[in-house]
Amino acid sequence: MTIPVPEFALVLLVGPSGCGKSSFARAHFARTEVLSSDFFRGMVCDDEMNQAASGDAFELMHRACAMRLSRGKFTVIDATNVRPEARKPLLELARQYHAQVVAVVLDFSAEVCHARNQERRAERPFGPEVTQRHADDLKRSFDRLETEGVRRVHVLRSEAEVGAVRFERQRLPVNRRDERGPFDIVGDVHGCMGELLLLLVKLGYRMRRAVEDGRAFWRATHPAGRKLVFVGDLGDRGPDTPGVYRLVTDAAARGMAFCVLGNHDDKLRRWFESPERVTLTHGLARSVEQFAAEPPAFRDRVRTFLTDLPSHLVLDGGAVVVAHAGLPAEMHGRVSGAVRAFALYGDTTGESDEFGLPVRLNWAAHYRGRASVVYGHTPARVAEWLNRCLCLDTGCVFGGALTALRWPEGELVSVAADRAYAEPKRPLE
Ligand code: ATP
Ligand code: MG
Repeated sequence: MTIPVPEFALVLLVGPSGCGKSSFARAHFARTEVLSSDFFRGMVCDDEMNQAASGDAFELMHRACAMRLSRGKFTVIDATNVRPEARKPLLELARQYHAQVVAVVLDFSAEVCHARNQERRAERPFGPEVTQRHADDLKRSFDRLETEGVRRVHVLRSEAEVGAVRFERQRLPVNRRDERGPFDIVGDVHGCMGELLLLLVKLGYRMRRAVEDGRAFWRATHPAGRKLVFVGDLGDRGPDTPGVYRLVTDAAARGMAFCVLGNHDDKLRRWFESPERVTLTHGLARSVEQFAAEPPAFRDRVRTFLTDLPSHLVLDGGAVVVAHAGLPAEMHGRVSGAVRAFALYGDTTGESDEFGLPVRLNWAAHYRGRASVVYGHTPARVAEWLNRCLCLDTGCVFGGALTALRWPEGELVSVAADRAYAEPKRPLE
């Protein structure tokens, strides 16, 4: 049996004393990845069984857990974890640091666990009531784990099952450190197909005619093997949203383009999924009209493409991060609802400004991370670096320009918009 675990996760081993958690942890995880409550009890008072030291021991274990998670380190908790109060601080840490929580339950009966403890009476001088209480707590926990925030619960019920387990660490979709580029990172296109083609040619891409679903389109390749990265918001407001998606999905399918999800892309995705639940504002109406003329197979492909888009991408060994609305360092390479919300909408206060747009805080002004962050979302007249952060949205659809960053060269390349395709609600800064 293979248990998939994200490369960055908090794994809770769950089960009564004697169920085999510490043995299991030794068999599957590196020594330093495992935080054991017994170990911390010993650390604070030289006696792993001294329950009076539990308060200090757990405090220290939680601190160690926080420190590991803040560094993005895979962490396993070897404690009974059968009570909600014991799990709560761990789940809070996972939320704070955007770690996904996986529970592995060793569901052995109180009798089996007690019998095993009897074999090691010097270390576990418990009466049967202890494992019975743990087993009762565990039983009540099963229905709660997922609502508490545990993402996946794996239950092992026999020695054979325990013996057959293998963990498979899975790369998070936001982690593409292995992609070394060089890249051309392109700002918000918003359906400006003509400007995109001009920009690609200016960047040295060769454009060849190709046909898909009976439609002709331009297929981009680069003689030097450069790859494209789009900061999201491929569509809406502009004249040819389907054309842009066709070019990008084709390049992505050939492994020479990457894209992160923008708020407009996400809204289009939701419209594909349930049109009756989405209001057609902010240029989406225009995209919907344009897609109506497209073959269903293409619409399905765009929908799948959008569904699979990551919230952000960590590229080039971690040197550069691309996120639609930017991303603070502590969220890089992590996956959670909060990370996704930030990457899509930025640092919003929940208030609206005099133009009816959400008030956005300038997170880049406080950025102190080591990675460069390239983003879009907030149109400005010029693309300027601030603390290793660069916004590439130069408002092409509003009559500005479409801009790309050559990475790692750091050179900016842009083409002026042919015209203004939409009026901005808030004048460009
Ligand atoms: P505690 O919560 O008290 O620390 P634990 O869940 O960590 O307990 P272990 O220390 O791993 O449990 O195992 C308890 C005893 O059961 C040990 O003596 C161990 O050798 C034995 N044991 C562990 N796993 C198995 C197994 N799969 N089959 C048989 N015996 C096992
Ligand atoms: Mg143990």
